[in-house]
Amino acid sequence: MAADKQPQRKKIEATGQMMKIMSDYFYDLNDAAKSDERKVAWCTSVGPAELLRAMGFAVHFPENHAAMLGATRMATELIPEANTIGYSPDICSYLTADIGAYLKGSSPLAKAYPGIEGPPKPDVLVYNTNQCRDVQDWFSWYAKELDVPCIGITSPKNFTDVSEILIDDVTRQIEALIPTLEEVSGKKLDPQKLRETVALSRECTELWRQVLETAAATPAPLTFFDGTIHMGPAVVLRGTQQAVDYYQQLLAELQQRIADQVAAVDGEKHRIYWEGMPVWGRLRQHSELFSELQASVLVSTYCSSWVFPDFDAEQPIRSMAKAYLGLFIVRSDAYKEEYIKQMLKKFQIDGIIYHDAKTCPCNSNSRYGMPQRLEEETGIPSLVISGDLNDLRCVSDEQTRTNVEAFIEQLEEK
Ligand code: SF4
Repeated sequence: MAADKQPQRKKIEATGQMMKIMSDYFYDLNDAAKSDERKVAWCTSVGPAELLRAMGFAVHFPENHAAMLGATRMATELIPEANTIGYSPDICSYLTADIGAYLKGSSPLAKAYPGIEGPPKPDVLVYNTNQCRDVQDWFSWYAKELDVPCIGITSPKNFTDVSEILIDDVTRQIEALIPTLEEVSGKKLDPQKLRETVALSRECTELWRQVLETAAATPAPLTFFDGTIHMGPAVVLRGTQQAVDYYQQLLAELQQRIADQVAAVDGEKHRIYWEGMPVWGRLRQHSELFSELQASVLVSTYCSSWVFPDFDAEQPIRSMAKAYLGLFIVRSDAYKEEYIKQMLKKFQIDGIIYHDAKTCPCNSNSRYGMPQRLEEETGIPSLVISGDLNDLRCVSDEQTRTNVEAFIEQLEEK
C-alpha cells in the first residue's frame, strides 16, 4: 500500500542558522568550564534555567546530551556501562546513556565540535523532579562523583489544576535555591536581570508555540520529526536573545511555506498526533516511514512541552513556578486527556501514535487506558508502538513498520 515514490525530506532553510547557534552555545559552555570567572550549572530540561542564566551561569542540560547520544546511536552500547555500577536497564535510558558516556569518556560533542571533549564540568547541579525522579538520581550520582553541590525542586505531581497552594510551594523552593547559587557564583541575584531573562524566555516560548502551530495548516509545513530537531534552542537557550532571533527566522520560513502551500509530507493524506518521546536513533527512519505512507506526523505533546505561556517578567519567580507546574508530564490523566482532545481538534488529527517508551514510564501515556478512553470519546483511532527513546535494544523496526502500515491502512479504510 505504500506510495511508489521515494519520500522527500524537505530541508528547512533555517537549519543552518540553528546549527550555528547550537555550536556557539556548546563552545561557550566549553569556554566557561575552562575559565576561572564563569561558573557552570547543570539543569534539568524544565528546571530553573531562567534563574541560573540570570545569575551568570553557563547552563548545560544533560538531557540534551543524552538525546544526542540517542540520535547518534551511541547510547545503546554505553547503557551497559551504567548497568555495571547498579543502574538497571529498565530505568531512564537518558540517565544510563549519559552516565555510561561519562564512565567511558565518550561524547557526541567531541565528534561534532573539534576541541570539545565532552560536557562541561559543573560547579553546581540543579534539578526539578516535575518530570520524574530519575533526574534527581542522575544528578545526585554526578554530585558525588564530582564533589559538587546538588540542589533542586521536589515538585508535586498528578494534579489537574495548578492551584495557588502548589505555586506557593514551588515558589518557596525556587527562592530557597538562591543562597547556594549566590555562594557558588560569588554574585548576588540581580532582580532586573532575572526579569529580563524571564521576558526573553516568554518571548522564546511564544515564538516556539507559533512555530508548532503552523502545523495546523493544511498541508502542514513541518512535522514532529522536524520539531524534535528545531526545539534545540527552546530547550538549551531559552532566556536568551539568540533563541528569540532564531524562532523569528524559523517562523517566517514556515509562514512562507503555508503561503506557498508547501507540504512537509508530499500528498499529505493523513494527519497524525505523536504522543510520547521520540525514538532518537530512528528519527530519520520514522520520518521516512510515515512520509512513504503520505501520513504527516505533525504535532506532539513532546515538542509542545517547551511552551510556557505562564512566564511573566513582572512576577519572575512565581511565574517560573507556575510555568514549571504547568508542564504536561506532571499533570493528572484528566488534564492530559483534555489537553490532547483540544490538540486533536486544533490540528485536525485523524490518528494517534502512542510511543510506549520502555525506560520512560512518565512520558508513556498508553499504560493506563488513555488510548481506549480517548478513542471512545473522540472516535479517533490510535496505535501503540513499543520502543524506547535511547535504548535501541527495545526497538523492533520490523514490528514498527508492520504495525504502522496496518494502522495507516485502517485510516484509509475509515
Ligand atoms: S522524563 Fe523520562 S526520559 Fe526524561 S529524564 Fe525522566 S525518565 Fe528520563
